[in-house]
Amino acid sequence: MKKRSTALVAVALVTLFSVQCGSSGGGGGVKDFNLISIDEEWQLGQQLSQEVASQVRFNTDPAVNAYIQQIGNRLRERTPAPFNTLPWTFQVVQDDNINAFAIPGGHVYVNTGLIKAAENASELAGVMGHEMSHVTARHTTEQISREYGLSILAGLVLGQNPGQLQQIVAQIVAGGAIARFSREAEAEADELGIRLMHDAGYDPRGMAAMFRVLLAHQQSEPSRVEQFFATHPTTESRIRDAEARAQQLGPGGVTDEPAFQDARRRVQ
Ligand SMILES: [Zn+2]
Repeated sequence: MKKRSTALVAVALVTLFSVQCGSSGGGGGVKDFNLISIDEEWQLGQQLSQEVASQVRFNTDPAVNAYIQQIGNRLRERTPAPFNTLPWTFQVVQDDNINAFAIPGGHVYVNTGLIKAAENASELAGVMGHEMSHVTARHTTEQISREYGLSILAGLVLGQNPGQLQQIVAQIVAGGAIARFSREAEAEADELGIRLMHDAGYDPRGMAAMFRVLLAHQQSEPSRVEQFFATHPTTESRIRDAEARAQQLGPGGVTDEPAFQDARRRVQ
């Protein structure tokens, strides 16, 4: 049994490498080493999202969910091909911690705590754009292969190790090692994310504004931003970078919209 699964992983690796060599990638990021194809990543995401569903509690307010899906789809349309036509999901997690996360395969999760803490739609769009850029730049699959090795990643795609899958999701949900990207990956997600929110019609100043909101909460309610700060070291220089980028992109775009304030009221 053990021998057989080792052989399967070896076969999987050969398949993955050959698929990789024949594909052009298209992650939307820089210098990616794409270990699995985007199709395979979307398959893996399917499994991961089922596991997330068993580990979190979802908010079931249809109006709140409809708004998060609307803003998510507006952003999704402006992601680079092929991501703009792939099926993404946008879900609201009933959790007072100010956090959001995304997993491979375009599954994006926004905590009710984040919706409450954001002051306007552009701040929410800034965080969502950032998280979605981790997906298009394929940072999580990079991170899984870095932490566990390529053979584990290959085995996960094939559904061979549900225990490992469970553990990885638990880490992502709790802001553990797998959810902690390199500083370069964070900077890349900031840069791609701000362009994405701007292209989708949101005021790009919202990203830096949201970082400021998070910093203010670190003073007043540190426990609510613990997860976010564990995975997103937010420094003055990071905020200044976001402000400078917003200035380059120029003014304009939606800062707020009534549907956001409605959703925010509903999660209080
Ligand atoms: Zn990030």
